[in-house]
Amino acid sequence: MSPRPSHQPHPLLRFRRGGPRRPGWSGGHVGRRCLLHRNPRCPDIARDAPAPPRIDRGVARVGGVSGRVMEALEARGGVAPAREILGQGVTRAALARAARDGLVVRVRHGVYALGRTSPAVVAAAAHGGAVACVTALALWGVWVLADPGLHVWLGDKGRAHAHPGCRCTDHHGAGRAAFGVVPIADALVQAARCLSREAFFAAYESAWRLGLIGAADRITIRSALPSRLRRVLDIARGDAESGLESLLRLRLADRGIRLDCQVPVIGVGGVDFVLAGRIILEVDGRENHDGPSMRHKDLVRDAAAAAAGYEKLRFDYALVVYSWPLVEAAILRRLGR
Ligand SMILES: [Zn+2]
Ligand SMILES: [Zn+2]
Repeated sequence: MSPRPSHQPHPLLRFRRGGPRRPGWSGGHVGRRCLLHRNPRCPDIARDAPAPPRIDRGVARVGGVSGRVMEALEARGGVAPAREILGQGVTRAALARAARDGLVVRVRHGVYALGRTSPAVVAAAAHGGAVACVTALALWGVWVLADPGLHVWLGDKGRAHAHPGCRCTDHHGAGRAAFGVVPIADALVQAARCLSREAFFAAYESAWRLGLIGAADRITIRSALPSRLRRVLDIARGDAESGLESLLRLRLADRGIRLDCQVPVIGVGGVDFVLAGRIILEVDGRENHDGPSMRHKDLVRDAAAAAAGYEKLRFDYALVVYSWPLVEAAILRRLGR
């Protein structure tokens, strides 16, 4: 995948001004999950949550000047430059005291965070920006193939700051650097640069399946991608059950082979994958596959599948993900290609 030149901006990467309460820059709430902090008064939680979130009463109990420091940080998603919180009933002395009391942490010179802010958000702030790209996708619960490390959005003029253990991947583009977690659509567009075509496809389907991207987001994402990835989106679906299913569908589509998922087969029940309408593909993720009763059940299913006119191929997760040429050769031979 050819990376997008770092100087080339696109509209999705434009930072929206107005603080962490602006749409998309919610501070990382997904329904009841709060990625940054657990603020019981957060309007995002109030709107999304079907049940009350776990309430952290820390702020409510801390009154006086330290309470004001914490509230000012909370209003900015849990982490902010000192210059943004000073002057609203917050003095330098109050900030220093809250830090001394362990209520807030000094992320780096002039940047402070609430003690309970997500470690990824604090590390990204130490680096100089917001959690971005695959790291943001992982925080949002999107399926990513491997440990993403820390990817940080630095805006167009932001610079990376040295910090302990830094192995961050920088992302630049139009807009002013901020702290927090970038919106999911921005993260997907950024991830198109850092992930393989397959891994991006799986992440995109996972975000769709989780309901994190709507029709408008998908149109915007598509317009921001290079044309070869736009073609991949043509076969994307919003009902993929797993990253494995996404990988299989894309790899088989490249060979012109249709993959049906969750197919009811008489006498067998629901099967995960059917290839070209006639071969059941089983991908085994079970640990103890060889127990006697499981073995018998498998044989019964095999016999029922054969009786229903299906052939069967069986692999495990590692074979499909890491030894695809062998799996593909087996599938092509069975299909008579
Ligand atoms: Zn990245
Ligand atoms: Zn770093």
